[in-house]
This record gives sequence, structure tokens and C-alpha cells, in this order.
Amino acid sequence: MGREHQRIETLCIHSGEPRPRLGGAVSMPVFQSSTFEYTGEESYGALRYIRMNNTPNHEALHAKLAALEGAEAALVTASGMAAISTTLLALLSPGDHVLAQNRLYGGTHALLFGELARLGVACDLIDADRPETWTSKLRGATRLVYAESITNPLLSVGDLPGIASFAKAHGLISIIDNTFPTPLLFRPIETGFDLSLHSCTKYLNGHSDIVAGAVIGRGDLVGQVLHTLNHLGGSLDPHACFLLHRGLKTLAVRVREQCKNAQALAEFLERRPEVLHVNYPGLPSHPSHARARALFSGYGGMVSFELDGDEKRADRFLAALRLPVTAPGLGGVETLVTRPATTSHAAMSREARLAAGITDTLIRVSVGIEAHEDLCADFAQALSN
Ligand SMILES: *Cc1c(COP(=O)(O)O)cnc(C)c1O
Repeated sequence: MGREHQRIETLCIHSGEPRPRLGGAVSMPVFQSSTFEYTGEESYGALRYIRMNNTPNHEALHAKLAALEGAEAALVTASGMAAISTTLLALLSPGDHVLAQNRLYGGTHALLFGELARLGVACDLIDADRPETWTSKLRGATRLVYAESITNPLLSVGDLPGIASFAKAHGLISIIDNTFPTPLLFRPIETGFDLSLHSCTKYLNGHSDIVAGAVIGRGDLVGQVLHTLNHLGGSLDPHACFLLHRGLKTLAVRVREQCKNAQALAEFLERRPEVLHVNYPGLPSHPSHARARALFSGYGGMVSFELDGDEKRADRFLAALRLPVTAPGLGGVETLVTRPATTSHAAMSREARLAAGITDTLIRVSVGIEAHEDLCADFAQALSN
């Protein structure tokens, strides 16, 4: 049966696995070797060396990730930010202009308006919900459009097919950060994006125990990013490769459970009088519900909600929770909670934060794979606390 006919659950397990199996090993072994014996390779890029991201562990992951997103090529990196920064540095030059979706991941926003601005790259933000406003922001020097599949922490979904076709119509490279939905729920390359980026630290690995990233998409662009990565040095360690490879095998079962639990928790929270408002694309009350239903095959494992009361009330609620861990990060098998005002969005002024809809009592939940009955019971006792 050809790859193209296999479903993603099967690809998670079987794609990218070395054939024949190395030494007969059913599980991909770790090649804990920084360098590999010279066997007559004719180009520098063909020599095997960890920083060149071309050990057997890297190559198996590249093939698996490309198969999961239905892409020509993929590349793993030392972190999600290494994937984002290496990609942008590979594709942009001084004088270039970027259109980026507003409400970006904090690190990406800081990179675009800090380091890249310093290197002479200009950036304007666009509202991903209002395609009629995009053309007026185009410049002669506009080179790429940068989007995120689901925004953090209000979980809105922009007009993603619109962004991909806008980029095509204007000869721009389109890039999307697909960390939140994962290829299980959304495959940007099939929607027309050129590159899909991931923090594999989150759902793709899924166990909160490594930091890693990925660049997936058009072969020529991934090749350009690899060339820059070899110079910048953000390559992934083989042991982290091994853990990511293992984590990817259970992606489908994990994310499906997380979607089911997140839906149950969101519906439970929406019924509670202590909760002012719940943000979850799987709720008909969410402004992006119809779009998420049309584009995604599930609504994801992230939920956020606003508590009635002040920040002291919010901190009391977090302290009363027994199952979830209060910690930044997301996408692991354990439920994590944060208050974005003090974590992901602490660097923003209070005014700007409130204008962006991130109030003092907003709680973000990365829903894990515990029994949702136990999660809801724990949230109930903490709300009544
Ligand atoms: C975490 C995250 C990143 C950064 O990834 P790291 O692996 O922490 O470097 C980028 N984008 C999104 C959407 C993230 O959640």
C-alpha cells in the first residue's frame, strides 16, 4: 500500500522508519556519535556530523515529519525558536518586509521586532480575520507572510486559506506556526502554505521532557533553511531526536484524547457561575468555531477562561487545583495551567494586555490525557474554594 493512501495514525508509527531495520531493532536506536566515518562522500553536505542534522536519527525524523504533513521535506531543530529564527534568517535580507499575523507567540514577536528589525527587516502586523485590509499593507519589498494556526491564549483561528492564497497571488512565501493543532488536526501544506513550523517541545513530543523544533514544507525552502542551520548551529541532539521519534508514534492517540478532554472541560466551565467566559474553538460560542470546524479535524487541547473576580481570586483558584501543574509550556500528557498575565504575556504593559483581551483573571489550560471526569471534579472543587 502506497504512503499516500495511509492514514495519519499509520504514518505516525511506520513512516520514516529505516528499512531494513537497523540491526533488526524495532525501535529506532540512538546514534550517540557526533561524527561518522568517511566513506568517499564527494560534498561537504554529505559528510555525517551532528551539526549538519544528518545522522540516522535526524534522517528518520525528517522523513516521518514530512509524511505527517504531506510535505516534500522536513528538518528538525534544537528548539521551536531555532526553527523560527533559522527560517526567517535563511529567507530574509536587509530591506525586506514581512507581513505577520497579530497576536503572535511572544518569542516570534520579539524576534521580528527586535533582532530582525535591527538587521534591517521591517514588519507590519495584519488582522488574520480581515482579508480586505491586507493589500494596503503590501510593499514592493514584502517577501513573506507569517501566520499561526491557532493563537495563544484566546485560541482564535484566522482566515488561513485566505492567507495562503493571498501569498500565492502576490508571489510571497507563506509560513505558518502549526504548533497548536499539530498535523493530526491541520495540514497547512495541503492548504497552500509553503512552510509549516513547529515547537516539537509541545504536542509532537508530548511528554514535557525535551526542547525541539521542526521546519516542514517545500523542498527548496527546507534546503535553504538547512544550509543556514548548518551555520547557525541550532541542530537537535540525537537523544532528543530519539525521544521526539518515540513521542511522535503516539501523537494521534494523545491529541485525540486531549481534544475530547478539552471539549468536556470547556463545556463544564461554560456552565459554571464562577466563570465569565470560556475560549475554546470547539464551543459554538467561540468566534472561530465555524472556521475551526471547516479547517480542522478537531479543536485541540488548549482551553482558556476568565474567572469572575480579581487576580487574587485567580491565584487562589490555581493554588486550589490538585491535578494540574501550574507551569508554562503545553502539549504534554499532564494538564498544565498558567495565568498568562504573569507568564506568557508578563512582558506586555497592562494596558496593551487588556486591549488584546488578556485579562488578569484569564487562566490558560493545556489539557492532558487524565480522565476528564477527574479533571472536571478537580476544577469544580477549586472553583468552589
Ligand atoms: C512554545 C512555542 C514556540 C517556541 O518553541 P520552543 O520549543 O519553546 O523554542 C513557538 N511557537 C509556539 C506557538 C509555541 O507554543
